[in-house]
Amino acid sequence: MSKSVAIISKRRKCLADLTTQGANVSAVERVLHTLADAGELAEDFPTSSSSLQRAGKELLDERTQFGPVVTEITMQLIKGQELQWPVVNPYSYVWWVCENVPAYAKMLVDALEKHPSSPDQQWHLCLYGDEAVGGNVLKVDNGRKAWCMYWQFLEIDEELLHHEALWNVGAVLRTRTSGKTRRGLSGALSCLMSFWFGDVQNLGSGLRFRYDDKVYIIFAELGRWLSDEGFLHAAFLCKGASGWRYCMLCSNLVSERSGLAGLADGSLVPHGCNDVTRLQLHIDASIWSVVDKTSQSVVRHDSRKKKRNWVFMGIQTVC
Ligand SMILES: [Zn+2]
Repeated sequence: MSKSVAIISKRRKCLADLTTQGANVSAVERVLHTLADAGELAEDFPTSSSSLQRAGKELLDERTQFGPVVTEITMQLIKGQELQWPVVNPYSYVWWVCENVPAYAKMLVDALEKHPSSPDQQWHLCLYGDEAVGGNVLKVDNGRKAWCMYWQFLEIDEELLHHEALWNVGAVLRTRTSGKTRRGLSGALSCLMSFWFGDVQNLGSGLRFRYDDKVYIIFAELGRWLSDEGFLHAAFLCKGASGWRYCMLCSNLVSERSGLAGLADGSLVPHGCNDVTRLQLHIDASIWSVVDKTSQSVVRHDSRKKKRNWVFMGIQTVC
């Protein structure tokens, strides 16, 4: 076999390894060894699992002028103790990644040229959440299941937005751990949002990065939430598809099989209705009035029933 054919076949093997679903440390180690053998890596590039783990730890400890890239926020556990939850600090992370990957900074600069950002003209941050399992998904013990939260600005180039590698990690919380914390994933997200949009640091007051020795500022607000029903269910403590309220934002949408649309004075709309003008959006006052009704009614019900029938962000009150 000639040398070039051997390199091509090695590259194909690398590609096959990289596209295999899931990658643990040994799989990454194998891929890096193949790349190193093919002469594709610098001589001092770490390839062993121990050096990879060391490099990962050093990365987590990286400090910027905005603090460490990974920081800890405090969550309350059900039993009263506190849990220090490691999360990625977006202020430090964006600064750090732009210092190390100029192409990333250039992507943000390009987007800022098209969509200028200011306190009055905020960018829109999209939060994407999903539950994922590390390693063997069929494993009986699902202790490695975790809620994963990623984010990215919707203003960056649309084509780039489609690449999952460009989505920034926000935080990861083991599902098992979330079960021990107050309000579970919902409580954890509440802590994360307070960290992103808090008094000390607030994405609305600006997130900085440097490109070509010039400092840029992005002002952002939470603009979109993207997740499947399971995540929404856990995040908003809502009822899900088995309930009769399908939408957290509509005050008068009910499932057809509930039969409620026919009973009321016509204000309730069955979910099969395709006339959007009949839908009424919730406003703050209507949400709080339902929350009040729920909290009064919950007193009369045991907690198990509450879990099954009541919780739709306080909206499903008439089960
Ligand atoms: Zn709706």
